[in-house]
Amino acid sequence: MTGFVLAVLLLTGAVASDSLMASRSGFTRFEFVQAHMGTQFRIILYAPDAETAGRASTVAFDRIARLDATMSDYRETSELMRACKPAGHQWVKVSDDLFRVLALSQQFARRSQGAFDVTVGPVVRLWRRARRMQELPAAEKLAAARRLVGYARLHLDARTQAIRLDKSGMLIDLGGIAKGFAADAAMAILKDHGINSALVAAGGDIVTSAAPPGLRGWTVAVRALTSADEAAMIHLLLANAAVSTSGDAEQFVEINGVRYSHIVDPRTGQALTGRRSATVVAPSGATSDALATAVSVLDPLRARRLIDRTEGAAAHIERMQSDRIVTTESKRWPSLRQISSR
Ligand code: ADP
Ligand code: MG
Repeated sequence: MTGFVLAVLLLTGAVASDSLMASRSGFTRFEFVQAHMGTQFRIILYAPDAETAGRASTVAFDRIARLDATMSDYRETSELMRACKPAGHQWVKVSDDLFRVLALSQQFARRSQGAFDVTVGPVVRLWRRARRMQELPAAEKLAAARRLVGYARLHLDARTQAIRLDKSGMLIDLGGIAKGFAADAAMAILKDHGINSALVAAGGDIVTSAAPPGLRGWTVAVRALTSADEAAMIHLLLANAAVSTSGDAEQFVEINGVRYSHIVDPRTGQALTGRRSATVVAPSGATSDALATAVSVLDPLRARRLIDRTEGAAAHIERMQSDRIVTTESKRWPSLRQISSR
């Protein structure tokens, strides 16, 4: 059975009182939604008038659409897919955006010791097929795909802004960082348009700028592992920060009673099993997105260490272990401004 659950992160907040505060401040709340990157992008912003809000959000969505066309691995014509074609042969010059997201990805790969690795493409493809066919990948195919994975085989040259993949058949997959990166880029566009208080949500990846007028932050509710119950939600109050949730709640396949996540361990080629959910707060969306994927792969101790070593990052990780939820929190998590659950 393949299951899809709605977004893990929900936006709540007293919208009526927000609006009252906002109108006193001369700003109005506007909300826009568009589908990109296989998910829903939502922009909530405070602006002096509808025209400013409309213009800013249109340009921000255009930016997201262009990044999707650049980074998608579902479209054979994307810049990313074209850059992977000559794998094993030559250097390929890439755009500013592609170079930046790859340079960031390599940083996270090094810092997570390969738990986050965008060269997982060949393995991810096999597991995607497994999801479609409801059938585990053949062991020899998985072994062959694994030999094509490894961030050390992806080379970046900042001087020429070019990339090179060591082996033919290598494939880059930006699914673990693209949405956070795009949400950051959209937020930068909003700022260019003079919008200082906004929230950009890309499915489970959310980026915020300044708090709504008169409020201390944006309220973001994170659903706990096992329950859709409001009482079991963690409410975070965020401003100028990003939050991402990764886990098996949204995309997974169940074969012979085992639940396989769409996140794979690049070091083994295996899809993660066992219920888990990781929520990471960080200064940028690209960081929270990549780290949420990385800590899902790492064991709790290493996950905690990675988060504690990242400036401004905090994490809350839940894992199901023999019918019990085991929670791991990073050092900074308790100091985040949390609104107690009702
Ligand atoms: P979501 O897409 O639900 O927000 P993630 O941000 O965790 O979840 O990204 C998962 C996607 O990232 C997968 O669908 C796949 O494309 C890619 N991916 C899977 N495992 C890894 C990994 N270990 N490192 C980097 N990317 C990964
Ligand atoms: Mg991610």
